[in-house]
Amino acid sequence: MSNNPRPARVELDDGGGRVLIEWVDGHRSVYEARELRINCGCAECVEEWSNRKLLDPATVAADIRAEDYLMVGRYAVQFLWSDTHYTGIYPFGVLRKLCRCGECGN
Ligand SMILES: [Zn+2]
Ligand SMILES: [Zn+2]
Repeated sequence: MSNNPRPARVELDDGGGRVLIEWVDGHRSVYEARELRINCGCAECVEEWSNRKLLDPATVAADIRAEDYLMVGRYAVQFLWSDTHYTGIYPFGVLRKLCRCGECGN
């Protein structure tokens, strides 16, 4: 696994219900939109000084979708979620760690 993973391609699948990322090292990750949304690390979702989770996963709709995404500089992806939560920025390394494929062993 690369120490400095970077997406070569980001794609919204299933109407945004799934996010596909193809990494520059050829690895492919598939994420459920809801799982990414629950793992949002913004100040609204995680208390900055304690790292305590403020977001209750039960409040995230089962059918949440990614409506769009933006590349943030060369380090992160920002998703625009269908619940209008737009503040979450997902650094590439965090996204790679959230990969649930067999190879990543999560
Ligand atoms: Zn958030
Ligand atoms: Zn993986």
